[in-house]
Amino acid sequence: MAQDEVLYYDSEKECILSSYRKKVPKRMASLMEMKEIFRNADAVCFDVDSTVIREEGIDELAKFCGVGDAVAEMTRRAMSGTVTFKAALTARLGLIRPSYEQVQKLISDNPPELTPGIRELVNRLQQRGVQVFLVSGGFQSIVEHVALQLNIPTANVFANRLKFYFNGEYAGFDETQPTAESGGKGKVITHLKEQFHFKKVVMIGDGATDMEACPPADCFIGFGGNVIRKQVKEKAKWYITHFDELLKELEER
Ligand SMILES: [Mg+2]
Repeated sequence: MAQDEVLYYDSEKECILSSYRKKVPKRMASLMEMKEIFRNADAVCFDVDSTVIREEGIDELAKFCGVGDAVAEMTRRAMSGTVTFKAALTARLGLIRPSYEQVQKLISDNPPELTPGIRELVNRLQQRGVQVFLVSGGFQSIVEHVALQLNIPTANVFANRLKFYFNGEYAGFDETQPTAESGGKGKVITHLKEQFHFKKVVMIGDGATDMEACPPADCFIGFGGNVIRKQVKEKAKWYITHFDELLKELEER
């Protein structure tokens, strides 16, 4: 597109008219609008499992604690049924029962692997003065470790908190965290908008729970660089498979 080309939206004809009177379909219009929101965002929220990192934290924890197959089976059943997020989390953690020591050992022996391009993207967003948040259904200690690698302050991490007894044994999780509920990511975004008066918030993630957080998020970008969720790929108006695509979007203007 030429730099001085003016685009405007014709709501009656449901298309965008360029200064050259070229018609662009409506789907393209909303994609263009989303790109505009992304370039002007005050805050960008990233999902963590299979988005910022290559793996699913709970599966890695289950494998590490020797119950990988049983938990994977439980996840499959939970995904095809109508179990709430909290019930599914309770059941899986009840099987894993990770101790404080096991969680620490997982982080030191088998740290989460960052997705290619995420470091550069977070860096670039922060240079532009954009607030970057990690909003995860995973666990605070693991997500904080990821945040540290990306120079994201701990205060910008929203995740579930495991609880332990004084001897380090598993004692459940904090059920009052918004991320422990179905629809929790949306609640976090509403809270951020209220607290910081953000005008434009972007959510990026691989899963249906990330897509459901828009609205209140102003734009959702589906990410299929680690795993492709069919439903998200089909429904997301903006779907990417590498973070370079977003870096390019910021550099073009
Ligand atoms: Mg995810």
